[in-house]
Amino acid sequence: MHRPRAATVRFGNRIQGMNQGDLSRAAEILRSAGRVVAFTGAGVSAESGVPTFRGAGGLWEGHAVQQVATPEAFHADPLMVWRFYDQRRINLTKVRPNPAHTVLARWQDRFPSYQLVTQNVDGLHHAAGAREVVELHGSIWCVRCVGCGHEREDRSAPLPDLPPRCSACGGLERPGVVWFGEYLPARAMALATAAAEACDVLVVVGTSAVVYPAAGLVEVAASAGGKVIEVNPEASQVAHLAEVELRGPAGVVLPLLDELVGDR
Ligand SMILES: [Zn+2]
Repeated sequence: MHRPRAATVRFGNRIQGMNQGDLSRAAEILRSAGRVVAFTGAGVSAESGVPTFRGAGGLWEGHAVQQVATPEAFHADPLMVWRFYDQRRINLTKVRPNPAHTVLARWQDRFPSYQLVTQNVDGLHHAAGAREVVELHGSIWCVRCVGCGHEREDRSAPLPDLPPRCSACGGLERPGVVWFGEYLPARAMALATAAAEACDVLVVVGTSAVVYPAAGLVEVAASAGGKVIEVNPEASQVAHLAEVELRGPAGVVLPLLDELVGDR
Protein backbone atom coordinates (compact mmCIF):
# COMPACT_ATOMS: atom_id res chain seq x y z
CA MET A 1 0.00 0.00 0.00
CA HIS A 2 2.69 2.48 1.00
CA ARG A 3 5.20 1.63 -1.66
CA PRO A 4 3.39 3.09 -4.70
CA ARG A 5 2.73 6.35 -2.84
CA ALA A 6 6.37 6.71 -1.91
CA ALA A 7 7.39 6.03 -5.50
CA THR A 8 5.00 8.68 -6.79
CA VAL A 9 6.36 11.29 -4.42
CA ARG A 10 9.93 10.47 -5.39
CA PHE A 11 9.05 10.72 -9.07
CA GLY A 12 7.33 14.04 -8.48
CA ASN A 13 10.44 15.51 -6.93
CA ARG A 14 12.62 14.19 -9.71
CA ILE A 15 10.42 15.79 -12.31
CA GLN A 16 10.39 19.14 -10.58
CA GLY A 17 14.10 19.03 -9.88
CA MET A 18 15.42 17.71 -13.14
CA ASN A 19 13.09 18.57 -15.96
CA GLN A 20 12.15 22.21 -15.58
CA GLY A 21 14.77 23.55 -17.99
CA ASP A 22 14.28 20.69 -20.42
CA LEU A 23 10.52 21.10 -20.21
CA SER A 24 10.82 24.78 -21.09
CA ARG A 25 13.06 23.98 -24.05
CA ALA A 26 10.67 21.32 -25.30
CA ALA A 27 7.71 23.69 -24.91
CA GLU A 28 9.58 26.38 -26.84
CA ILE A 29 10.30 23.98 -29.70
CA LEU A 30 6.65 22.92 -29.82
CA ARG A 31 5.29 26.45 -29.64
CA SER A 32 6.86 27.39 -32.96
CA ALA A 33 6.13 24.05 -34.66
CA GLY A 34 3.73 23.79 -37.57
CA ARG A 35 3.91 20.06 -38.23
CA VAL A 36 4.04 17.75 -35.27
CA VAL A 37 4.15 13.97 -35.09
CA ALA A 38 3.62 12.05 -31.85
CA PHE A 39 4.89 8.49 -31.88
CA THR A 40 3.80 6.26 -29.02
CA GLY A 41 4.62 2.80 -27.71
CA ALA A 42 3.73 0.36 -24.96
CA GLY A 43 4.90 2.64 -22.14
CA VAL A 44 1.92 4.94 -22.65
CA SER A 45 -0.53 2.02 -22.34
CA ALA A 46 1.39 0.50 -19.43
CA GLU A 47 0.61 3.66 -17.44
CA SER A 48 -3.08 2.79 -17.88
CA GLY A 49 -2.41 -0.73 -16.62
CA VAL A 50 -2.12 -2.55 -19.95
CA PRO A 51 0.49 -5.31 -19.62
CA THR A 52 3.28 -5.11 -22.17
CA PHE A 53 4.06 -8.85 -22.23
CA ARG A 54 7.70 -8.10 -22.95
CA GLY A 55 8.87 -8.27 -19.35
CA ALA A 56 9.64 -11.28 -17.22
CA GLY A 57 5.92 -11.97 -16.74
CA GLY A 58 5.30 -12.26 -20.47
CA LEU A 59 3.55 -15.60 -20.18
CA TRP A 60 -0.02 -16.61 -20.81
CA GLU A 61 -1.21 -19.94 -19.42
CA GLY A 62 2.37 -21.14 -19.56
CA HIS A 63 2.94 -20.07 -23.18
CA ALA A 64 5.49 -17.43 -24.08
CA VAL A 65 3.52 -14.66 -25.74
CA GLN A 66 5.93 -14.80 -28.67
CA GLN A 67 4.57 -18.31 -29.24
CA VAL A 68 0.92 -17.22 -29.11
CA ALA A 69 1.12 -14.09 -31.24
CA THR A 70 2.35 -15.64 -34.47
CA PRO A 71 0.72 -16.80 -37.73
CA GLU A 72 2.10 -20.31 -37.06
CA ALA A 73 0.38 -20.52 -33.67
CA PHE A 74 -2.89 -19.35 -35.22
CA HIS A 75 -2.61 -21.90 -38.00
CA ALA A 76 -1.94 -24.69 -35.50
CA ASP A 77 -4.57 -23.72 -32.90
CA PRO A 78 -6.85 -20.79 -33.76
CA LEU A 79 -9.03 -21.36 -30.69
CA MET A 80 -6.07 -21.12 -28.31
CA VAL A 81 -4.87 -17.90 -29.95
CA TRP A 82 -8.38 -16.44 -29.91
CA ARG A 83 -8.80 -17.26 -26.21
CA PHE A 84 -5.66 -15.23 -25.56
CA TYR A 85 -6.93 -12.25 -27.59
CA ASP A 86 -10.46 -12.51 -26.20
CA GLN A 87 -9.03 -12.28 -22.68
CA ARG A 88 -6.93 -9.27 -23.66
CA ARG A 89 -10.03 -7.60 -25.13
CA ILE A 90 -12.00 -8.31 -21.94
CA ASN A 91 -9.17 -6.86 -19.84
CA LEU A 92 -9.09 -3.73 -22.01
CA THR A 93 -12.76 -2.99 -21.33
CA LYS A 94 -11.65 -2.22 -17.75
CA VAL A 95 -8.84 0.11 -18.77
CA ARG A 96 -9.14 3.87 -19.25
CA PRO A 97 -6.94 6.35 -21.13
CA ASN A 98 -4.51 8.26 -18.91
CA PRO A 99 -3.52 11.96 -19.03
CA ALA A 100 -0.89 11.22 -21.70
CA HIS A 101 -3.59 9.91 -24.05
CA THR A 102 -5.71 12.98 -23.29
CA VAL A 103 -2.92 15.43 -24.13
CA LEU A 104 -1.95 13.57 -27.30
CA ALA A 105 -5.58 13.68 -28.47
CA ARG A 106 -5.92 17.37 -27.62
CA TRP A 107 -2.87 18.22 -29.73
CA GLN A 108 -4.85 17.44 -32.89
CA ASP A 109 -6.56 20.83 -32.37
CA ARG A 110 -3.43 22.64 -31.21
CA PHE A 111 -1.05 22.29 -34.15
CA PRO A 112 -1.70 23.28 -37.79
CA SER A 113 -0.66 19.75 -38.81
CA TYR A 114 -0.58 16.83 -36.42
CA GLN A 115 -0.23 13.09 -36.84
CA LEU A 116 -0.49 10.56 -34.06
CA VAL A 117 1.33 7.29 -34.81
CA THR A 118 1.21 4.36 -32.41
CA GLN A 119 2.60 0.88 -31.99
CA ASN A 120 -0.21 0.09 -29.55
CA VAL A 121 -3.18 -2.04 -30.57
CA ASP A 122 -5.48 -1.26 -27.62
CA GLY A 123 -7.44 1.67 -29.07
CA LEU A 124 -6.77 3.90 -26.04
CA HIS A 125 -5.82 6.89 -28.21
CA HIS A 126 -9.25 6.72 -29.86
CA ALA A 127 -10.87 6.27 -26.45
CA ALA A 128 -9.23 9.55 -25.39
CA GLY A 129 -10.78 11.34 -28.38
CA ALA A 130 -8.05 11.09 -31.02
CA ARG A 131 -9.70 11.21 -34.43
CA GLU A 132 -6.93 9.99 -36.72
CA VAL A 133 -4.40 7.50 -35.49
CA VAL A 134 -1.94 5.57 -37.62
CA GLU A 135 -1.87 2.14 -35.98
CA LEU A 136 1.37 0.50 -37.10
CA HIS A 137 0.57 -2.81 -35.39
CA GLY A 138 -3.15 -2.85 -36.22
CA SER A 139 -5.96 -2.89 -33.69
CA ILE A 140 -7.17 -5.54 -31.29
CA TRP A 141 -10.74 -4.33 -32.02
CA CYS A 142 -10.34 -5.19 -35.70
CA VAL A 143 -11.16 -8.69 -36.93
CA ARG A 144 -10.01 -9.90 -40.35
CA CYS A 145 -11.06 -12.91 -42.46
CA VAL A 146 -8.12 -15.08 -43.46
CA GLY A 147 -10.19 -16.34 -46.42
CA CYS A 148 -11.47 -13.24 -48.23
CA GLY A 149 -9.61 -10.50 -46.32
CA HIS A 150 -12.80 -8.77 -45.17
CA GLU A 151 -12.14 -6.53 -42.17
CA ARG A 152 -14.58 -5.39 -39.54
CA GLU A 153 -14.56 -3.63 -36.20
CA ASP A 154 -15.95 -5.71 -33.34
CA ARG A 155 -16.04 -4.29 -29.84
CA SER A 156 -17.80 -7.20 -28.13
CA ALA A 157 -15.79 -8.69 -25.28
CA PRO A 158 -16.06 -11.57 -24.80
CA LEU A 159 -16.76 -12.45 -28.41
CA PRO A 160 -19.93 -14.55 -28.69
CA ASP A 161 -18.27 -17.40 -30.62
CA LEU A 162 -14.66 -18.51 -30.69
CA PRO A 163 -13.09 -18.61 -33.15
CA PRO A 164 -15.24 -16.08 -35.03
CA ARG A 165 -16.20 -16.75 -38.65
CA CYS A 166 -16.63 -14.40 -41.61
CA SER A 167 -20.25 -13.58 -42.41
CA ALA A 168 -19.35 -13.13 -46.10
CA CYS A 169 -17.46 -16.34 -46.88
CA GLY A 170 -17.59 -18.46 -43.72
CA GLY A 171 -13.81 -18.37 -43.42
CA LEU A 172 -11.88 -18.20 -40.18
CA GLU A 173 -11.34 -14.72 -38.79
CA ARG A 174 -8.16 -13.58 -37.03
CA PRO A 175 -7.26 -10.64 -34.80
CA GLY A 176 -6.39 -7.55 -36.88
CA VAL A 177 -3.03 -7.11 -35.23
CA VAL A 178 0.49 -7.54 -36.55
CA TRP A 179 2.08 -10.69 -35.20
CA PHE A 180 5.72 -11.56 -34.66
CA GLY A 181 7.26 -12.31 -38.04
CA GLU A 182 4.65 -10.35 -40.03
CA TYR A 183 5.05 -7.20 -42.11
CA LEU A 184 3.59 -3.95 -40.89
CA PRO A 185 0.56 -2.70 -42.85
CA ALA A 186 1.99 -0.92 -45.90
CA ARG A 187 -0.46 1.99 -45.88
CA ALA A 188 0.08 2.76 -42.18
CA MET A 189 3.85 2.57 -42.65
CA ALA A 190 3.72 4.91 -45.67
CA LEU A 191 1.60 7.45 -43.77
CA ALA A 192 3.89 7.35 -40.75
CA THR A 193 7.05 7.71 -42.84
CA ALA A 194 5.65 10.62 -44.84
CA ALA A 195 4.58 12.39 -41.65
CA ALA A 196 8.01 11.82 -40.05
CA GLU A 197 9.78 13.15 -43.16
CA ALA A 198 7.71 16.32 -43.22
CA CYS A 199 7.51 17.12 -39.51
CA ASP A 200 9.09 20.00 -37.63
CA VAL A 201 8.95 18.05 -34.38
CA LEU A 202 8.62 14.38 -33.58
CA VAL A 203 7.64 13.59 -29.99
CA VAL A 204 8.57 10.00 -29.09
CA VAL A 205 6.56 8.77 -26.12
CA GLY A 206 6.86 5.56 -24.12
CA THR A 207 8.76 3.40 -26.54
CA SER A 208 12.19 1.86 -26.13
CA ALA A 209 12.48 2.12 -29.94
CA VAL A 210 14.41 -1.13 -30.06
CA VAL A 211 12.09 -2.82 -32.52
CA TYR A 212 11.78 -1.85 -36.15
CA PRO A 213 10.24 0.47 -37.28
CA ALA A 214 10.43 2.66 -34.18
CA ALA A 215 14.09 3.58 -34.53
CA GLY A 216 13.65 4.00 -38.29
CA LEU A 217 10.87 6.58 -37.97
CA VAL A 218 12.85 8.67 -35.51
CA GLU A 219 15.89 8.52 -37.80
CA VAL A 220 13.76 9.57 -40.76
CA ALA A 221 12.46 12.60 -38.86
CA ALA A 222 15.88 13.59 -37.52
CA SER A 223 17.70 13.25 -40.84
CA ALA A 224 15.00 15.32 -42.59
CA GLY A 225 15.62 18.15 -40.14
CA GLY A 226 12.86 17.46 -37.62
CA LYS A 227 13.56 18.02 -33.96
CA VAL A 228 13.06 15.01 -31.72
CA ILE A 229 11.69 15.26 -28.19
CA GLU A 230 11.78 12.07 -26.17
CA VAL A 231 9.41 11.40 -23.27
CA ASN A 232 10.42 8.21 -21.51
CA PRO A 233 11.27 7.10 -17.98
CA GLU A 234 14.58 5.73 -19.31
CA ALA A 235 16.77 6.56 -22.27
CA SER A 236 15.72 4.67 -25.39
CA GLN A 237 17.76 3.45 -28.34
CA VAL A 238 17.11 6.76 -30.12
CA ALA A 239 17.90 9.10 -27.22
CA HIS A 240 21.07 10.25 -29.01
CA LEU A 241 18.88 11.73 -31.75
CA ALA A 242 16.78 13.70 -29.29
CA GLU A 243 17.07 17.48 -28.99
CA VAL A 244 15.43 17.23 -25.57
CA GLU A 245 15.01 14.19 -23.32
CA LEU A 246 12.23 14.35 -20.76
CA ARG A 247 12.70 11.58 -18.23
CA GLY A 248 9.48 10.55 -16.49
CA PRO A 249 6.13 8.87 -17.00
CA ALA A 250 4.24 10.26 -19.99
CA GLY A 251 1.10 10.73 -17.90
CA VAL A 252 3.01 13.23 -15.74
CA VAL A 253 5.38 14.81 -18.26
CA LEU A 254 2.92 15.47 -21.11
CA PRO A 255 0.34 17.44 -19.09
CA LEU A 256 3.18 19.63 -17.73
CA LEU A 257 4.56 20.13 -21.22
CA ASP A 258 1.11 20.86 -22.65
CA GLU A 259 0.53 23.51 -20.00
CA LEU A 260 3.86 25.18 -20.84
CA VAL A 261 3.12 25.17 -24.56
CA GLY A 262 -0.07 27.00 -23.70
CA ASP A 263 -2.53 28.38 -26.21
CA ARG A 264 -0.92 29.34 -29.46
ZN1 LIG B 1 -14.38 -13.97 -45.56
